[in-house]
Amino acid sequence: MTASAAALLAIAVMAGRVPAAHAAGTTAAANVPHPAAALIERGSIAMRSDPDASRRDADAALALLRTRPDADLEIRARLLLCDYQSERDQAAMEKQVAAIEALLPRAHRPGLRAGLLTCQGEMRETLGDNSQALAFFEQAVRVASDARDDEMIANALYSRGYVLGLQGEYALGLADLRRAQGIYETLDMSAHALTAMNGIAILYNRMGDYAQARDIYTSALALQREAKMLREQAVTLHNLGRAHEYLGEWSDARRSFTESLAINREIHYGRGEAYALRGLAAVENGLGNWRGALDLLGQATALLRSTPDARLRAQIDLARGIALHGVGELDASAAALRAAIDVFRSGEARGELAASYAELAAVEAARGDWRSGYTQLSLAKQVSERLLRNQIDQRFATLRVEFDTASKEAENALLQRDIRENERALAQSRSVRRLQGVAIALAALLVALLATLAVHQRRTNRRMRNLAHTDELTAAPNRRAVLGRLAVILTGEGAGPCSALITDIDHFKGINDRYGHPIGDEVLKIVAQALRDALREPAFFGRLGGEEFLVVLPETALDEGRATAERLRASIEAIDLSHICPVGRRITVSVGVTVSRRSDTPSSMLQRADEALYAAKRAGRNAVRVCAPASAPSAAAAHGASHDAIDGARGNDLQDAARPTA
Ligand code: GH3
Ligand code: MG
Ligand code: MG
Repeated sequence: MTASAAALLAIAVMAGRVPAAHAAGTTAAANVPHPAAALIERGSIAMRSDPDASRRDADAALALLRTRPDADLEIRARLLLCDYQSERDQAAMEKQVAAIEALLPRAHRPGLRAGLLTCQGEMRETLGDNSQALAFFEQAVRVASDARDDEMIANALYSRGYVLGLQGEYALGLADLRRAQGIYETLDMSAHALTAMNGIAILYNRMGDYAQARDIYTSALALQREAKMLREQAVTLHNLGRAHEYLGEWSDARRSFTESLAINREIHYGRGEAYALRGLAAVENGLGNWRGALDLLGQATALLRSTPDARLRAQIDLARGIALHGVGELDASAAALRAAIDVFRSGEARGELAASYAELAAVEAARGDWRSGYTQLSLAKQVSERLLRNQIDQRFATLRVEFDTASKEAENALLQRDIRENERALAQSRSVRRLQGVAIALAALLVALLATLAVHQRRTNRRMRNLAHTDELTAAPNRRAVLGRLAVILTGEGAGPCSALITDIDHFKGINDRYGHPIGDEVLKIVAQALRDALREPAFFGRLGGEEFLVVLPETALDEGRATAERLRASIEAIDLSHICPVGRRITVSVGVTVSRRSDTPSSMLQRADEALYAAKRAGRNAVRVCAPASAPSAAAAHGASHDAIDGARGNDLQDAARPTA
């Protein structure tokens, strides 16, 4: 069967890629890639498709390594040769093993020892000594695990899983092969992962689950065709043929074996050819074409002359025994079957052993040796019962492995998800912190901007308010401002009397007319400045409009108000205007004075002041007149309780006409 063929693949796997730390093939002395490294890489890949090319690369690498030695690289090159020779030349292989052993003390990669152990195990397996092979593989797994060399771990697991399968330990074997496949996948070694998958199918085959095996082979085959892995295809096709053979699907089996044979011939893989020929012979046996079978088996045996594959030899013997039985050569048949039984028994290949016993029983019966026939038959029954029981046990165990693997995978997936989520959360919090920083900076900027804007706004507001309350021409408070302040004073609690004066420039229109409007404006400014100069806090004034100003004297009785009015009138009269209007050098004002009473509003006060002003005008201008409220005591006597009293307004107006006018 396929034991050695698949084992050979395992060696190829073993000689394959190396972990990144070693892959560059750099020497300790100089960090320059050794030219042999690329050859070894190529050789290990070629081992899957073209073993001869692989050997040529290994030899070329060794030649280069002679001029520039590197223990690790040399071991890897020799592992390739070990692989190549394992099925061709036992002595040559042992030479490689010895050479590798000598190199190991100088190697930097401790996992390489596992490679050697695996190679040694393969040699035992090829010789049919599975329990010794297993011991080597166990050791290889341990060494590779201690070295934490994933690739070497996977290689050793693959080999151990395969031999466990040979020994009927399907569940354990399956677990190893699955692990190997997983590691190869994570190492991105897809060709090796495929080989492991193939091994899994072989196990199913051994468990008697041929349909399952056939399906895995079929999908593996598609992948191998895609990857143009010729030798892998040849092996898988053989295994697929084997599954068809067990299922009695003869024409499918023939197609698979024929294709396998063609590929093996193309790549000059003699042992593979022998396997395919045995398969074709089994098909002929199945169809009762004994002579055809014997012819094919003859070709297979011829190919086997130089290889030490005991198991394949036994398989050929089994097929030959069946064919010889078919053609009636009973003695020769019994001899072939007994030879096969010897190998199968030591290799613990129960399925084939049971088949051999059963065939031998039939041959002995045909020879008339009923006793021996009976013995062989009971042996066959014993073995196949054990095989069946084991297959059933192992199927249960396999189910458990499958279940455990599935739950492990689910657990791993959960763990991975957790890790991913944690990473995402971390990244998020990092970016949140970054954003917070930006937000704080922006906020600070915004606060500064708002503060600037607020200051600016307050200034603008103040300016606007000032503009709204200031007369543009004279810069004195305007009508609204001065009346507003008066209103505040009039409503003030417990405030004393407040005098109000309206001053009106006499014959101002004449100034405009004679000197022009701009000069008129100048005169207005001069008068405003004179008022400003003459008044002291808490007194204030504002421009009511035109050439009229209102002067307010808080806490001032009427007499005092009149005195102030007189003072103002005199000071304005004293202004020398010769610098702006040379002809008429003087201006005068008429002033109307009043004082507040309890119920006064600005407008009622203005009205009285205006009446007094009118009286002053009538009195000839450049004069002061008073209009006291009806209830307010005044120096000028009131004319009636219900009437305001205007001094001189009604009785002796125009008395001051003698005063000069502008
Ligand atoms: P009276 O002695 O009776 O007060 O006579 P008056 O000419 O002063 O009074 P009137 O009301 O007849 O004329 C006021 C003038 O004041 C009329 C107007 O053209 C002028 N005037 C009002 N506002 C301004 C101003 O802002 N600038 C200038 N230059 N003249 C103004
Ligand atoms: Mg006027
Ligand atoms: Mg006037």
